[in-house]
Amino acid sequence: MKERLYLFDTTLRDGAQMNGVDFTLQDKAVVAAMLDDLGLDYVEGGYPGANPTDTEFFAQERPMKATLTAFGMTRRPGRSASNDPGLVGLLDAKAKAICFVAKTWDYHVRVALETSLEENLASIRDSVRAAKAKGREVLVDCEHFFDGYKANRDYALQCAKAAYDEGARWVVLCDTNGGTMPHEVEAIVADVTKTIPGDHLGIHAHNDTEQAVANSLAAVRAGARQIQGTLNGIGERCGNANLVSIIPTLKLKNEFAGRFDIGVSEGKLGGLTKLSRKLDEMLNRASDRHAPYVGASAFTTKAGIHASAILKDPATYEHVKPDVIGNRRQLLVSDQGGKSNILAELDRIGLKVDKNDPRVARLLDEIKEREAQGFAYEAADASFELLARRMLGTVPDFFDVVQFDVNVEQRNNALGKRVTVSLAVVKVIVDGKELISAGEGNGPVNALDVALRKDLGKYQKYIDGLELVDYRVRILNGGSEAVTRVLIESEDEHGDRWTTIGVSPNIIDASFQAMMDSIVYKLVKAGAIA
Ligand SMILES: [Zn+2]
Repeated sequence: MKERLYLFDTTLRDGAQMNGVDFTLQDKAVVAAMLDDLGLDYVEGGYPGANPTDTEFFAQERPMKATLTAFGMTRRPGRSASNDPGLVGLLDAKAKAICFVAKTWDYHVRVALETSLEENLASIRDSVRAAKAKGREVLVDCEHFFDGYKANRDYALQCAKAAYDEGARWVVLCDTNGGTMPHEVEAIVADVTKTIPGDHLGIHAHNDTEQAVANSLAAVRAGARQIQGTLNGIGERCGNANLVSIIPTLKLKNEFAGRFDIGVSEGKLGGLTKLSRKLDEMLNRASDRHAPYVGASAFTTKAGIHASAILKDPATYEHVKPDVIGNRRQLLVSDQGGKSNILAELDRIGLKVDKNDPRVARLLDEIKEREAQGFAYEAADASFELLARRMLGTVPDFFDVVQFDVNVEQRNNALGKRVTVSLAVVKVIVDGKELISAGEGNGPVNALDVALRKDLGKYQKYIDGLELVDYRVRILNGGSEAVTRVLIESEDEHGDRWTTIGVSPNIIDASFQAMMDSIVYKLVKAGAIA
């Protein structure tokens, strides 16, 4: 029999504290549904009373399998529970559980709360009692627990015990400043389990020494049975413990997988890469290519000897199988790699070629020549695939762009305000028919993108769901000889993503090359007939 380990997500509360993160009510509902579907046990939806969005989020019932949790403060010192508007509002929130944050560091009680140690204990007891009386499951986040423990062990333990004795389901030990080391967490949690049983203890770690994941696992090793964290580790400062790293570790590493069950199934684990990227997309930020397990580079190998070994058996250079978390293996095609990389990539994209086929050597030469000009195919999987398919003669001539024209104009608008407007006109030939489209954009590249994808005749249906999700520019060489490298990441209606590249001394031209590759790649992928 395995022990149950519980996962508590606070993306919508602590995660929302991150710079630049601003969830709307609709976003919150979408993220809560994603978390519930993933199989997390608790979804902390926010802090009702702290802002209108969070208050509104808890104003209606939101049925889900997970325990929807509202966050708030314990009653203020010197007031009764029924006379504290914050607490009364929290008790009104439509949530199955309430997570109180409580002070447990004596220094904070005196300096920040300006009250006595005894009054703080009474506030914890009263708040837990009030929430229990309303039929709620209760969690108590012990703020600054590890620092408090080091400063005054007895008092920190008294606070935790007050919550537990009053009936809190979970006492959560928080490394609020994020500075505690894994071996300290393990030792302190082990000591706390002598006062409170481990299956009532949780860990809430921040990432200020990049050890939030390690600290969470250390707490579990010492007996804690609930982990709090966020998707992609988002959160204030350096972030919270990253559930997207913790979940695969718990599912795939024997020390944990052999001892514990979690609510996330193998099937849901297979969707983790997509889910992680979906959140980044909602936050309008590029995904971390080097993120463990789910990053685009997490299973990418460059060196030639590694690549030839991976071809023989992937396990030689991989700690887990990428497809288990919905990620994929990638072998870099670069001037450092040899023929074995190219053959492996061709194999992956389903192009069967004999290794002695002269076209393979020609492809390798072409790639080396282009990389000398500034192309970087290792970062542009789709452009590589197109180049390979073209050299092997399998890309149809879908359409021709005969001409394009991009115009940037700065002038006063009707309100007398200075504005810069970009307009692009594109002339394409599809099936012998000339199509002319114009597009307006906030910049020349955007205008060109709009015009190019406005009307591609019979191919339009294939590219309607195409979206440009990331656009990166690098200037190479510097000085007057500079060339521009543009990388474009695109996504289609199925959530599939690919990257294309363009290189030119002219940024518009480089962008155009990358956009064209992206469209043609999508047409090839969709099986469009020329
Ligand atoms: Zn926190």
